[in-house]
Amino acid sequence: MSLSILPDHPRLYIPGPTEVVAEVAAAQTRPMVGHRSAEFQALFYDVAAKLQHILLTEQQVFIVTASGSGLQEAAVRNGVRPGRKVLNMVNGAFAERWHQVSVGNGLEAVRVDLPWGQPVRPEDVDAALAAGGFDAMTVVHNETSTGVMSDIAAIARRVRERYPDVLVLVDAVSSAGGVRIPFDAWDLDFLFTSSQKALALPPGLAFAAASARFLDRARQVPHRGWYFDLVLLAQSFAEGETTPATPAIGLFYAAQRQFERILAEGLEARFARHECMMHMTHAWACAHGFELFPAPGYASPTVTCIRNTRGVDVAAMVQYAKARRLVIGNGYGRLKNQTFRIAHMGELTPDHMQALFDVLTAFLSS
Ligand SMILES: *Cc1c(COP(=O)(O)O)cnc(C)c1O
Repeated sequence: MSLSILPDHPRLYIPGPTEVVAEVAAAQTRPMVGHRSAEFQALFYDVAAKLQHILLTEQQVFIVTASGSGLQEAAVRNGVRPGRKVLNMVNGAFAERWHQVSVGNGLEAVRVDLPWGQPVRPEDVDAALAAGGFDAMTVVHNETSTGVMSDIAAIARRVRERYPDVLVLVDAVSSAGGVRIPFDAWDLDFLFTSSQKALALPPGLAFAAASARFLDRARQVPHRGWYFDLVLLAQSFAEGETTPATPAIGLFYAAQRQFERILAEGLEARFARHECMMHMTHAWACAHGFELFPAPGYASPTVTCIRNTRGVDVAAMVQYAKARRLVIGNGYGRLKNQTFRIAHMGELTPDHMQALFDVLTAFLSS
């Protein structure tokens, strides 16, 4: 399969935004149509149907004009009733952000901190929920700051068994589209993602799936806001409308084209390609004296966080690669220089990864 990434530019091996193929980028330049027109309506529902395939769900999906953070806010805003609490499991920077988002929305948010590099485990969630009074819990499926992927199937199973009324809210921003996440089979309540990560679209759209349980709960929340009122958005959807506010129409053209490409590649083939690139990245890192940052068994298939056990000058390595038009990431926040990150998601292929490793190997021996 040939992936014709835009030629002649610094290629992105960072965990978002990711490479966008030329034909998908070009789809955005199609002439505008009115967002209340039959043409846009057809486009909107086609993108939604394809999204259901990609998220492996037959339940309600949402497509909003925002980055993923918009739906991160919508999740807690719509999923927690007044007087009830939300549990935020914090094992990295994006998980921590969900706590800030919860607090910023005036919710009673209980934060459980876990060491960075560790996954969220069902027993941690269980122990925290035992205090009672919770309407929802938040978990980041693939913590982009640490390269850790938690077992959300096991977490959801435990919550369903022991706390049937607690909603399982999942940030899958850097995993959806690169990793198999069967939303319905795992009985999740809300899962959101962004356009610019493993789905390999330009930034500007966010996508989600929601369970009936989630929407029932949302109807009991009196102040859900307006732009991200998921009951209102679901109602527009049910009535054959698109979105109450003007959507980013150009990005919908791009999403339609990209989702066609994703489904043509085949979801299983796509997930296998991500796994293969992860294994290549682990092999390169370990062969060159580095260690992986995540706890064994929890490494992400879309982004590898490498512990700088060799004490290399990470900033210099990032610069060296940049000068050769390859862009990798330093560690996130407090992990800067102690780690570095190589994303292997979206449009990247094993050949692209090999090209990067050749350059990084040359840096290490320079
Ligand atoms: C990138 C990222 C976000 C933020 O998404 P935006 O689209 O920038 O709002 C949230 N969570 C995770 C895990 C991410 O990787």
